[in-house]
Amino acid sequence: MTIRLLGTGAADGIPAFYSNSRVSEYARLKGGKDVRTRSAALIDGCVKIDLPPDTAMQLNRDGLSAMDWACLIFTHGHDDHFDVNQIQYAMHPFTDKEFLEFPIYANGTIIERIRERYPSWPMELVETKSFNCFYLCKYRVTPIRARHKEDEDAHNLIIERDGRSLLYALDTGIWTPETWEFLKDFNIDALIIECTDGRAECDYDGHLNIKKCAEMVERLREQGTLRAGAPVITSHHSHKGDATHEELIQLLAPHGITPGYDGMEVTV
Ligand SMILES: [Zn+2]
Ligand SMILES: [Zn+2]
Repeated sequence: MTIRLLGTGAADGIPAFYSNSRVSEYARLKGGKDVRTRSAALIDGCVKIDLPPDTAMQLNRDGLSAMDWACLIFTHGHDDHFDVNQIQYAMHPFTDKEFLEFPIYANGTIIERIRERYPSWPMELVETKSFNCFYLCKYRVTPIRARHKEDEDAHNLIIERDGRSLLYALDTGIWTPETWEFLKDFNIDALIIECTDGRAECDYDGHLNIKKCAEMVERLREQGTLRAGAPVITSHHSHKGDATHEELIQLLAPHGITPGYDGMEVTV
């Protein structure tokens, strides 16, 4: 199973378009791995996770086509993950498709928002609930409850195929005991985890900085949820975290964590 990180930036990406923060300015000058578009991922080229406003740019950059998607899974309804307006481009009048050719899996709040926006557009919408797994093609997907958005069932996702597993945990916050307990039954082969706030202090519980991220990873290793030697890669970085890609490499290395970057692929 291969996961491609299409975007590894937080809400406004890096460089943040309305900011001259040190990290934004550095990314403007340097380019490369310091430029981070809004977070999204693609499993084996066909399972799409989230639909940020940067979707078209990400696909064009990597030579990919949304026609290869078998499904679209939403984690939660924040704008950087769920840009409802992008869905229309997969159907008439923008294409010759009379219906959406792949199903959308999302929590009830998001499904309501899609129905409001596209009342009569033919598309298959499947409601997801934390801790209830579902099957699609060769994959078993288990959403787990993130501690991120009070007014909806925000998910992190465990994706399994052929005995291999991946935990995609962006916009997670520090999980509640219910999620920690549920995770004890899993042996994860690779973890993609948010590190939104970098080396900044954060008092908001719905995101992680390096310190909190390292504590989460350590606890996952201790309780056996994360297999020994499993790669741990970060995503969802904000320019306000005040760390360039190179600085993140140095800061995360002592914890056995590697910073992700746009276009990175991880195979488990
Ligand atoms: Zn986000
Ligand atoms: Zn969010």
